[in-house]
Amino acid sequence: MKKLNLQFKTNPTINKTVEIFKQLPSIKERQVFQKFNSLNKQVKGAIVLTCATTLVLSGTYTLKYLDTHENNVFSTDSFSVLAEGKELCKIRDPELVDAALEELEKNLETQYQHDISIENSFEIQPSKAKDKEIATEEQLYDILADNADYSIMAYAISVNGNQVGLVNSEQEANTVLTEVTNYFTQSYVEESIIDVETEETVKIEQVNASSTEIQSVEELVNYIIKGTEEEQKYVVEQGDTYWTIAQYFNMTLDELISANPNSDSEHIQIGDELNLVVPKPFINVQVKRKVTQEEKTPFETEYQYVSYMYNDEQVVERKGEYGVSEIESIVTEENGIQIAKEVVSEKVITQPTTEIVTTGTQDPPPRIGTGTFINPLPGATISSRFGSRSGGFHRGIDMAKSPGSSIKAADGGTVISAGWDGSYGYSILINHGGGFTSRYAHCSAIYVSAGDKVYQGQIIAAVGSTGVSTGPHLHFEIMKYGSVVNPASYIY
Ligand SMILES: [Zn+2]
Repeated sequence: MKKLNLQFKTNPTINKTVEIFKQLPSIKERQVFQKFNSLNKQVKGAIVLTCATTLVLSGTYTLKYLDTHENNVFSTDSFSVLAEGKELCKIRDPELVDAALEELEKNLETQYQHDISIENSFEIQPSKAKDKEIATEEQLYDILADNADYSIMAYAISVNGNQVGLVNSEQEANTVLTEVTNYFTQSYVEESIIDVETEETVKIEQVNASSTEIQSVEELVNYIIKGTEEEQKYVVEQGDTYWTIAQYFNMTLDELISANPNSDSEHIQIGDELNLVVPKPFINVQVKRKVTQEEKTPFETEYQYVSYMYNDEQVVERKGEYGVSEIESIVTEENGIQIAKEVVSEKVITQPTTEIVTTGTQDPPPRIGTGTFINPLPGATISSRFGSRSGGFHRGIDMAKSPGSSIKAADGGTVISAGWDGSYGYSILINHGGGFTSRYAHCSAIYVSAGDKVYQGQIIAAVGSTGVSTGPHLHFEIMKYGSVVNPASYIY
C-alpha cells in the first residue's frame, strides 16, 4: 500500500571511517623543545606543572564549549535530502524523512479520504553542516509536502470504456451519476417514472490519479451533461427572437431550444442569458414513464346520398364535434425528448359527435353557359322589382330569404370577379357567353373566385346584407352586351 521509495546513494553507517592524520613536529616546535631541554630541573618541573594545569583547564573549557557549540563552529556530519538531484535541505537524522513522509501521507489520506501514494523518491546523501543549517522537523515536513508528487486512488467514471472524469471517492462518483439522471428527470413527477436507464455502459472504477486531474462533483456533472467544457453565452437584446438568435449563430431552432431547456423560447426577455453550446451528453438517459393526458378524439362523418343534388354539393346536416378521452400511455423519452409512446388504456370522457352530410348522386352539368337561366334563390320573396323605383332605376331584382341561404349560379360560365364591390357589398359577376353576364350582390359569404368555371345551379354564395342593403336579400342582375335586362323575363 505505501511505497516510500527512499534511495540512499551511500549508506552512512557503513562509510563511517574517520581518518586521523598524524603529523611530524615542525622545525619551530623542535626549537622550543630544545630550549626547554636546556632549563634546570626545578624550573622545568614548575613550567610543566603550570602548562599541565593550563592544558587541563583549557581542555576542560574547550570540551565544555564544544559540547554545546561545537556544531556552529565546525561543520559536522549531516545528511542532505535531495529531489531530482537538487538539495532540498539538510538534517542530522535520516530517519526523519521517513517519519515526515509517513505523516504527510496520513494527512493527505485524511484530506482526500482515500489511499495516497507518494510517487517521487527523495535521495539522502551524507554531507556536513552546522547546526544552524539544519532543517527543523516542521521545515522538513513542509519541504517534503511542497516537493512530493503523489497519486491518489481516485474513482473514474467511464462511458463505453472511455474515461470521462475523475472524482475523489466512490460515493462522489455515484452522486455524479445520480445527479446526471436527476437532470434529465427533474421535470417529471416522481411517481410517474417507471424506469430510468442509461443508453451507454457506465462504470465506476478505482484508478491512480494525480490530484490535478480530480474534478468536483459539480464540474463532472456539468461536463457529462454538456459533453464539453465549452461555455458560450448570449445576452438577449431588444428585438431578438429565438429564431433570429439561432440564425445569427448558425444554429437550428431546435438546437438553440435544446441548449436552453430551462428557458421559454416564446417569451425571452432582454437581458436573458442563453447558452449557445448544443449539449451532446456523454450519458444519454432514457426515462420510461406513465403519462395520463386528456386528448381530443376525432369525429366521424356520415354521408347521406340524395338524387336531387349533384355529387360535388354538400349540406352539413349536423356538425361533428370532437370527443375527449383520458389516455394513459407509457412514454419513453431520451434526454427529455420523446422517442416512443405506447397507449395503455383509454377512458372516454365525452364521445365525439358524428358529422352528418347530405350529398348528391348526380354528375354536375358542364361548366359552361346553357343559354337559359334558372332561379338563383328558389323559395325567395321578390321584395323589389326591376326598373323605375322612387325616382331612380333599379338595375335588378331583390330576392329576400333568410341569411345564409344558398345562392346558385343562374347559368354556367366563368367567374369574372368575386369579392367586395362598393355598394354591392360582397358580390359575384359571371360571364355566361353569348353576351350574357349575371351579378349576385349583398352576399354574406362567397364560395368561388375569379377565373372559376361554374355550372348552372352551383352554389356560389350565401344570402347576406353587405354593402348598401336594408336587410338580408339577393340583388340579382342579368346583363346582355353590358346593358341590364329584366331578370324576370329570363328566369324559368
Ligand atoms: Zn336590388
